[in-house]
Amino acid sequence: MLSTLRSIVQKVNAARDLREALDIIVTRVQEAMDTEVCSVYLVDPETNRYLLMATEGLNKSAIGVVSLGHSEGLVGLVGVREEPINLENATAHPRYRYFPETGEERYQSFLGVPIIHHRKVLGVIVVQQQKSSRCFDEGEEAFLVTISAQLAGVIAHSEATGVIGGHGLTGKLAKDVCFKGVPGAPGVAIGTSFVIFPPANLQSVPDKVAQDIDHEIALFEDAINCVRSDIRRVGLNLEQQLRPEERALFDVYLRMLDDNALSGEVINRIKAGNWAQGALRDVTMEYVRHFEMIGDVYLRERAVDIKDLGRRVLAYMQEKVEKQVDYPDNTVLISEELTPAMLGEVTKGKLAGLVSVKGSGNSHVAILARAMGVPTVMGAVDIPVAQLNGRSLIVDGYNGQIYASPSNELKAFYKAIIEDEKAQDKGLEALKNEPSITTDGHRVSLWVNTGLMTDIVRSLNHGAEGVGLYRTEVPFMINERFPSEQEQRECYREQLEAFAPSHVTMRTLDIGGDKSLSYFPINEENPFLGWRGIRVTLDHPEIFLVQVRAMLKASEGLNNLRIMLPMISNISEVEEALHLIYRVYHEVREEGFDIKMPQVGVMVEVPAAVYQTRALAERVDFLSVGSNDLTQYLLAVDRNNPRVAGLYHSFHPAVLNALWTVAIEAHKAGRQVSICGELAGDPCGAILLLAMGYDALSMNAANLPKVKSVIRNVSMEWASNLLNKVIELDSPQVIKSTLDLAFKEADLTKYLRPGRSADS
Ligand code: PEP
Ligand code: MG
Repeated sequence: MLSTLRSIVQKVNAARDLREALDIIVTRVQEAMDTEVCSVYLVDPETNRYLLMATEGLNKSAIGVVSLGHSEGLVGLVGVREEPINLENATAHPRYRYFPETGEERYQSFLGVPIIHHRKVLGVIVVQQQKSSRCFDEGEEAFLVTISAQLAGVIAHSEATGVIGGHGLTGKLAKDVCFKGVPGAPGVAIGTSFVIFPPANLQSVPDKVAQDIDHEIALFEDAINCVRSDIRRVGLNLEQQLRPEERALFDVYLRMLDDNALSGEVINRIKAGNWAQGALRDVTMEYVRHFEMIGDVYLRERAVDIKDLGRRVLAYMQEKVEKQVDYPDNTVLISEELTPAMLGEVTKGKLAGLVSVKGSGNSHVAILARAMGVPTVMGAVDIPVAQLNGRSLIVDGYNGQIYASPSNELKAFYKAIIEDEKAQDKGLEALKNEPSITTDGHRVSLWVNTGLMTDIVRSLNHGAEGVGLYRTEVPFMINERFPSEQEQRECYREQLEAFAPSHVTMRTLDIGGDKSLSYFPINEENPFLGWRGIRVTLDHPEIFLVQVRAMLKASEGLNNLRIMLPMISNISEVEEALHLIYRVYHEVREEGFDIKMPQVGVMVEVPAAVYQTRALAERVDFLSVGSNDLTQYLLAVDRNNPRVAGLYHSFHPAVLNALWTVAIEAHKAGRQVSICGELAGDPCGAILLLAMGYDALSMNAANLPKVKSVIRNVSMEWASNLLNKVIELDSPQVIKSTLDLAFKEADLTKYLRPGRSADS
């Protein structure tokens, strides 16, 4: 059974479009279950009706014609109930609805299973049988449920691909097509998409119109020649070790690349207008599909070889293509997985928005996007990336939505939001030199989180009173090797000088989790619970010592450095790190540098640290809460996984209680406590943290004016009452709506997120 299931899923995965995918499903399921009928009905989002999309057994002429209302008939009942319905005599059921076009009157046994993707019913898969022959048993029901669960994602993806090609299920032109992701960075972008894809990955190559057909053909032929000579060379090298029949395989590969095989077909497609990489992707994937369908195991395995050949040709072509790309104005950069390095690729002034299939709003790339003020949607798992290049798009970073083929009305709606934002930003600029103080006189320091060079100017322009978190891994991530001590020193000096006499809190290298260095890969099953932050640097004192030395030397004459240790989960880690820092301090002084011992602090970002706040505080000068990680570890929700992004609640009662505990305990030990997670930059979050007694809030520079403005508009008494009210609540959603309501009642609505819900 498992191999049948696998084979069906594999074949459906390889389908070119929705129609082919559905045809494969109905044929294969009918065959595997040995039934008389298998059909798929999908919900048409335009009409909210179930449309018969594919069938094996019913009249084919009913496809695309027969449709049922949302809760009509047995199909509608399966959808409403969201569970299988298995009937021996369907015609006797009160909800049975007869469609003469289908010719289904003969079939009495009915088994319908919903197709559900991300909690949404996409459609229903139905098998039917004449009563006299049999009714469906539990095993068959379980089989259909398994198939449906596995195929839901593929169906959703094919549907999205069709829609992006301009057709809804009924073939009508689609507009305002909405894809859901999760908010990455706030703001709205209206622009043109540019797909950036990882090298030598056939599936992710987007379609593009060939600008110069002859040039594309030449590029392809050069690449083919390179691969041919590679294969010949490898064949010769292995000549002695292979048997003749194995050597013959190399001849087969060479023949596959012949003009009248793969090459010829690719050239035809280029002549038809696709660029060489897109043409190669299409032809290779067609060959792969063809081979995967073959029953013979040996021949089926050859699909892997073809994919490999295609990948090799692609790699040569990509090497040749000039790296200089022409980004459109208002580029919306789209990628399967955005990385921090990609953010810097777009020509200055042209980047308007970002979209990533992988990752979530708490991924580091999203944090950088927020720092850059670029509207971003993460975790857009269903967008058909390959079809999106060069399209007009709207990125709604507030609600985590992307709109393709936007209508003029939708564009006008979003343009109005952009204008409102600009006006609001202008109004806030005036606050730059005003203190961050409540109406009843409580001050709280507002600091910034930095990492990129551009953060410096933005932070100073927004009136930052210091740097609460300088993510030193950012310069490490955009390098091709570990930066030398001198290189680090220059980089750190720039930060320290820019903010002097205000302090700059430099965090020691925090790699691991979702932050990897290309030159120091860490591959782990569970990266967020693995070798991360201080764990890596204590295991590599040569990296830690060089970094601290560079920081200390950079601080000479400025004395505004603070050092902060990430991912502390044990007291011994603090003690070891302090020991190393003191050692470097003495060495650097001995070398003749006139420096002061900087303050050293610890990040509280794992639950263990919350329960040891006092013990940690007694060993260091300050504490800073990393609420991004603390939330992920308290709630056991991977901050980088879009599937569980809906469970990542910054206002979860457990998170709020932990944050308050840390503030109380740190103060009992007489230490200053700040917070540098994203919650500090959220107006509602900032108010609660203020009420908890946090001494400083450190955030993205982009959020600072808004947070300052809110603080200046409320009293500490109001904030404390609000905190006391929400801390009694036990649901994150209720807490958030209570906060929103309180903001509305206090006439602070403009600080809540704008945008458009996908359902509106
Ligand atoms: C945090 O975890 O809250 C934090 C500030 O660190 P980072 O987001 O870089 O992990
Ligand atoms: Mg962290």
